[in-house]
Amino acid sequence: MIPYEDLGKLNQPFFEAYQESFKKTLESGWYILGKEVVEFETAFADYVKSPYGVGLASGLDALVIALKVLELPQNAEVIVPSNTYIATVLAVINAGFKPVLVEPNLATYNIDADLIEEKITSNTKAIMLTHLYGKVCEMDKIEAICKKHQLFLIEDCAQAHGAKFKGQQAGTFGEFGAFSFYPTKNLGALGDAGALTMKNEAHFKKVKSLRNYGSAIKYHNDDIGFNSRLDEVQAGFLSIKLKHLDAITLHKQALAKLYFEGLKEDFIKPQQHPDYEDVFHIFNIRHPKRDQLKQYLLENGIGTEIHYPIPPHQQKGYLEFFQGESYPIAEEIHQTTLSLPISFAHTEQDIEKVIEVMNRF
Ligand SMILES: *Cc1c(COP(=O)(O)O)cnc(C)c1O
Repeated sequence: MIPYEDLGKLNQPFFEAYQESFKKTLESGWYILGKEVVEFETAFADYVKSPYGVGLASGLDALVIALKVLELPQNAEVIVPSNTYIATVLAVINAGFKPVLVEPNLATYNIDADLIEEKITSNTKAIMLTHLYGKVCEMDKIEAICKKHQLFLIEDCAQAHGAKFKGQQAGTFGEFGAFSFYPTKNLGALGDAGALTMKNEAHFKKVKSLRNYGSAIKYHNDDIGFNSRLDEVQAGFLSIKLKHLDAITLHKQALAKLYFEGLKEDFIKPQQHPDYEDVFHIFNIRHPKRDQLKQYLLENGIGTEIHYPIPPHQQKGYLEFFQGESYPIAEEIHQTTLSLPISFAHTEQDIEKVIEVMNRF
């Protein structure tokens, strides 16, 4: 069996270092907002090449807190992709604003920059885009739109740690880069964790306050905040794994190369273009008989996933926000996409096997 993911195996190379780090934190007697968190925040911001980083409790919190810091008016509309994980849309709703969906480009699966302007109204205040599957969006066009219409830009980088567009890294284009360290992400913790990167010192101070009850000085609450602190134990683990993130990315890129070279043309593979340096959080293909293909692979001992089976606008809990709206490109992707094994835990032989079985479909 080649599972889609095997987190135990993925983390095995780090077990010893994790145990040492855990012991150190355990014995320190200091578990929340201490030196492990500061050390990780500094190292992660350096990695992203962003001036500031703040550790948070999750990727969703990072998105919500970024929106809160910007202090948008109550009726603000925020542009989000129609093809994304639900968290991007939920963050806008949880922050109290209106999500406005824009269809993806079928070649990149990311928000189609050429379709953004037609959705901009006088209430539009921000664009919150997702670098889906580990491919950065078309940032030159999007930055120009933000500048022209004076919109804030927030990047959902939950799947794009280290990904680049024209040499520039995800999380450095907008006001904020929001990261998740959910265990399956390219930089994964052993529980929930997230972070924001940012350029602006005032934003940095505000995020640090908001994550801790809106308090910069103990028991002084200057803002309506959250409890969204990254804990010392997870920060310790993340600092260790961060040192291996480039190796993790290179491994995934090498596995992707095998798919690009080996898979027959029946499968629609991700677009490759010299402007984009993808980190392949997910390697997807598309096929009209996706469900049959998934079942066939399972019968041949190969685990796959679908990212994602139902687009946000068709999710039961979200119907009221998108009544009468249709997003056929997002729907097409959701009906045909299949994610293939591409973990740090997989070997090149695993992927050769997947390719061999797939090419017999
Ligand atoms: C994982 C993910 C999130 C949410 O991160 P959590 O840490 O699970 O809250 C947000 N957006 C995208 C695109 C994701 O893949």
